[in-house]
Amino acid sequence: MTQILSVVSECAPLIKTGGLADVAGALPAALKAHGDHMRVLLPGYRAIMGKLPKTKAVDTYRDLFGGKATLRAAEAHGLDLLILDAPHLYDREGGIYGDAAGHDWPDNPERFAALSYIGALIAKDGAGGWTPDIVHGHDWQAGLTPEYLHGWGVQTPFVFTIHNIAFHGNTGADRLHSLRLDASRFNADHFEFWGQISALKAALAGADRITTVSQTYARELLTPEFGIGMDGILRARKADLTGIVNGIDTDLWNPETDPEITPYKAPAGKASNKRALQKTFGLGKSDGPLCVLVSRLTEQKGIDLLLQALPALLDNGGQLALLGSGAPHLEVALAEAAERHPNLAVKIGYDEALSHQLIAGGDAILVPSRFEPCGLTQLYGLRYGTLPLVALTGGLADTVINASPAALTAGAATGVQFHPVTAQALSDAFTTLCALYADAPTWKKMQRNAMKQPVGWDTSAAEYHAIYTDLTT
Ligand code: ADP
Repeated sequence: MTQILSVVSECAPLIKTGGLADVAGALPAALKAHGDHMRVLLPGYRAIMGKLPKTKAVDTYRDLFGGKATLRAAEAHGLDLLILDAPHLYDREGGIYGDAAGHDWPDNPERFAALSYIGALIAKDGAGGWTPDIVHGHDWQAGLTPEYLHGWGVQTPFVFTIHNIAFHGNTGADRLHSLRLDASRFNADHFEFWGQISALKAALAGADRITTVSQTYARELLTPEFGIGMDGILRARKADLTGIVNGIDTDLWNPETDPEITPYKAPAGKASNKRALQKTFGLGKSDGPLCVLVSRLTEQKGIDLLLQALPALLDNGGQLALLGSGAPHLEVALAEAAERHPNLAVKIGYDEALSHQLIAGGDAILVPSRFEPCGLTQLYGLRYGTLPLVALTGGLADTVINASPAALTAGAATGVQFHPVTAQALSDAFTTLCALYADAPTWKKMQRNAMKQPVGWDTSAAEYHAIYTDLTT
């Protein structure tokens, strides 16, 4: 049984801002089926500490980047957790990465260096008698782990997963000392990136294996357009880079048992959920498709393109119900557009239960992202017979089968893809979507196909297992 320590900054259902948490929360159970045991090292944010019924101290540190800290073992939601309880770093009001106004915490470099440092220390000294065979870090917050492993001469293999390369975790070289880094390695071969310390670069340079969350994104990352400055190092590490598409938690996202909705087995069962959703969002009846969107509201997610392309949906009798939060200018623009269009309804906020109702009640789910490493909501859509309309990029390219004439003839289509990622192409895709929706037998066939797609973790967990096995045997 391979023992794996997952080092990660969020983990569902305990603490979540995005898909990273879903993956971190689902992977341990998925790996269990392959005989692997994964423990999850998480920062002891205030929001987490309040939710853990019982913890057991397994280690203490007198000075962890400026204060006392305790490593606590806990079990919750079937997860075997190691919580880094360091009040000076994590016990504060506000978000996990920044304050309520959306500004990053100024000590984020120390906060996540500490997480990485303890991840490496557990590999070196163990935690309460348990020592991992592999350390698996996620995104820049775990990025410095291989630097600390190297500094102590620890040979434990390090696997790194890129969930979103847009976040580099860069900071000034004046922090070399405070982050306990080896100044002799502050160069382009290790963790220096254009004169700054880069936690992401440290991981890309130092990991034994690098994975990312879809095969298309793995290829895209090698290009300047998507690699965001890291394409060079990734091209150098190409032989060690693998794309493994994310799964979803098929128990939590199961239309037959979902407690947040009127459960259904077949597409026809969506009708009552659609009516309920229209009511919740104050939308009337309409002849066209009810589209839904659940997302962070950022440029990455193509929300600005959506605003421009909306007339092609709304003027064709379509509707949109949207749930999200993010960039204030996009929130305002959406709220203003909703005032003008009776067929557009917007709720600003984060609401898990409502996200289930949207996915169940919608006819189609929109993911118009400029880049999308994997994307999860299109996978929820497939499982719920809510056809994805997505940009042809990253994981969206890998998980949706476009309703091309050939795919429709073969009876294989599950959604609509558009390319290039422009407002014009999205408008055209809305026109296609409305035409498909008007063709009831074709639409129903696509829904059935969608609901049959394998979107769980089986295949992907086997691929992670193969990497761990490769590194330990
Ligand atoms: P990202 O990680 O880039 O934000 P993903 O599609 O990979 O995008 O994952 C987003 C996750 O967060 C999904 O589980 C989605 O349902 C959830 N989510 C995003 N915004 C909201 C919201 N406003 N309310 C509820 N869930 C949300």
